[in-house]
Amino acid sequence: MTAEVQAAHALRSIARKESMKSYVQQSSELYPLLLRAAKRFISGESREEGIAAAQELNAKGYGVSLEYIGENVAEKEECHKAKDELLLLIEELGSLSMKQVVSFDLSHIGLLIHREAAYAHAVELAERAKKYGMTLMISMEESAKTDDILWVYKKIVEKYSHVGITIQAHLHRSVNDMKELLCLPGKIRIVKGAFQEPTDTALPRSEELNTRYLMLVEQAIKANHPISIATHDEELMKEMKRRQYVSHPHVEVEMLYGVRPDLLRDVKNEGHDCRVYITYGTDWYLYLCHRIAEYPENIYRALVDMTQPSAAEGSTFY
Ligand code: FAD
Repeated sequence: MTAEVQAAHALRSIARKESMKSYVQQSSELYPLLLRAAKRFISGESREEGIAAAQELNAKGYGVSLEYIGENVAEKEECHKAKDELLLLIEELGSLSMKQVVSFDLSHIGLLIHREAAYAHAVELAERAKKYGMTLMISMEESAKTDDILWVYKKIVEKYSHVGITIQAHLHRSVNDMKELLCLPGKIRIVKGAFQEPTDTALPRSEELNTRYLMLVEQAIKANHPISIATHDEELMKEMKRRQYVSHPHVEVEMLYGVRPDLLRDVKNEGHDCRVYITYGTDWYLYLCHRIAEYPENIYRALVDMTQPSAAEGSTFY
């Protein structure tokens, strides 16, 4: 195992340590320092900053997905607050006539309490989004939660076809899950998967994973199903262009704010539908760890960003 892969594994397990997360969040020295590095990947800590970044990117011809960052919330009151924040986000986007996508983690709005609680909150969000013709996308979390997340999704999409789901190509089960998801109306976002999983559950980054990713995309294309190709993998993107997946009418390419903006700009300039996934909020610690773990060279960027904060303004890269 190379030092880079070891570092990525270490970061993913540090990311999962709640004690480390609350230490960072309560530290008056570490929090502002790491926030400078996080600013490469998050638009800011407030809804206003999220919406401002979204407007800036809309003006440049990109669609956006907006997420109020947070997950693994176990207190009922906090789940209510997160749901209320998402309702406000939908309202504000709606009042600005921005028919964008709102994304969220079910464990932010009640999944840890009970899947019925997450479902009830998701229904409120779906009702509000429907009022403005907006799409909601449910993120996919660790494999221990996949059954519950799919349970909520399948129940909600029966009534609200403007709710979509994310599928992780790295999970072995996704091959079967995809067949079921293609029978439902919601949009599907296809990602490789951000979480550390055992090998009996998921594939590591590999050619085999890329082949599976392509297979999932192909299945959706053949079914004429709306999808988001959510990857920053340039080689994979080249292959999907060669196979004319990217130009398919039901396909859009989506990348995370601050990650490979050069690549997304090229795809957009070639005339394809492109979307930037923008996050905001104060709970950015896990998100930052994932972005560094995916691409350990980002640790050098983080060091530069901490010392020269102006280097890390994500939206200026597009
Ligand atoms: P990788 O094989 O990880 O990377 C390929 C290449 O892309 C790298 O060599 C590098 O050049 C570039 N790259 C990748 N990441 C970075 C980075 N952070 N910084 C700089 N360059 C980078 N995961 C989930 O588990 N659940 C979700 O709900 C989820 N939602 C997502 C939504 C969107 C819109 C996107 C784009 C990703 C989402 N992810 C989600 C994350 C995803 O699973 C991957 O972890 C992430 O996209 C990196 O994988 P990759 O496909 O880019 O390929």
